[in-house]
Amino acid sequence: MAAPLEEPPGGAPGDEPADEVAELAPDDRPYRLGWLVGTLVSRTVETPTAVTLELDVPGWRGALAGQHVDVRLTADDGYSTQRSYSLASPGSMGLPPGAVAAQRIALTVQVVDDGEVSPYLAEDMRPGDQLELRGPVGHWFVWHPRDRRPVQLVAGGSGLVPLASILRTRRLAGSRVPFRLLVSARTPADLLYAAELARPDPGVDVTHVWTRAAPTGWDGRVGRVGATTLREACFPPDLGAHVFVCGPTPFVELVADTLVDLGHDPELIRTERFGPTGEVTR
Ligand SMILES: Cc1cc2nc3c(=O)[nH]c(=O)nc-3n(C[C@H](O)[C@H](O)[C@H](O)COP(=O)(O)OP(=O)(O)OC[C@H]3O[C@@H](n4cnc5c(N)ncnc54)[C@H](O)[C@@H]3O)c2cc1C
Repeated sequence: MAAPLEEPPGGAPGDEPADEVAELAPDDRPYRLGWLVGTLVSRTVETPTAVTLELDVPGWRGALAGQHVDVRLTADDGYSTQRSYSLASPGSMGLPPGAVAAQRIALTVQVVDDGEVSPYLAEDMRPGDQLELRGPVGHWFVWHPRDRRPVQLVAGGSGLVPLASILRTRRLAGSRVPFRLLVSARTPADLLYAAELARPDPGVDVTHVWTRAAPTGWDGRVGRVGATTLREACFPPDLGAHVFVCGPTPFVELVADTLVDLGHDPELIRTERFGPTGEVTR
């Protein structure tokens, strides 16, 4: 039987489309998504063009790793625009007893040149500033800490954000499920969370691909991800790993298609495309 819909604290009834319903509330009951107000608590510079925003969001009910939020900015003249941003913070749902999730959420925003929203979020927002957000959104591109299958992560550029959330959730949950991460970045300076990825994380293997310039002493090749890299760096298809691929649309399509060609089960491949998003109202 369908569970009753319930308005989360802070959500205004009737101001959201019917399909914006979270199916995975912490208590496992669906509820309608309303707009919440987040206050910027801190900003961390990740790379010269990417910043992580830590937000305090009263009424936030938690999320699974891999989900995203809609962010809405509204100007004084009523012009309003929305974009999607993945949660970088670990998921807070489905954790084992004793694992304590952070109350705040984190978003990592990569500046898109000439973009309307990302330069404001990454360069102009300061602690104390507020924005509206709605979420968590997305029920397919999620990893549940109770999942026992091995996990293959494949990230292109800022597509690393939700995959870092999945890795952080694994750590927080004390999961021992084997993970592999294949991460493609233009250069070492462009790699998000570089220090975190460099730290040993038992059960997690990380492979880097550099598309423009590699670190000094790098003995691998520089270039785009292709069939050879995917065959060498990913779990073999017969292991039946869940595969999460995230990045720019052409990257995601190439990787997903190639993995299927290599024998991975399409049913186990989940993709998230970081193409342009947005909805404008006046
Ligand atoms: C589910 C989802 C999750 C996302 N999560 C993140 C995230 O965690 N971090 C993050 O930084 N971004 C994320 N994005 C992308 C984000 O929603 C915006 O598209 C991005 O920040 C650009 O917005 P903008 O207003 O600055 O650019 P716009 O003003 O919308 O676009 C400016 C120009 O850049 C192009 N463009 C727009 N978006 C992109 C893009 N992503 N890559 C390349 N060119 C683009 C447009 O076609 C246009 O020509 C996500 C997108 C989706 C769909």
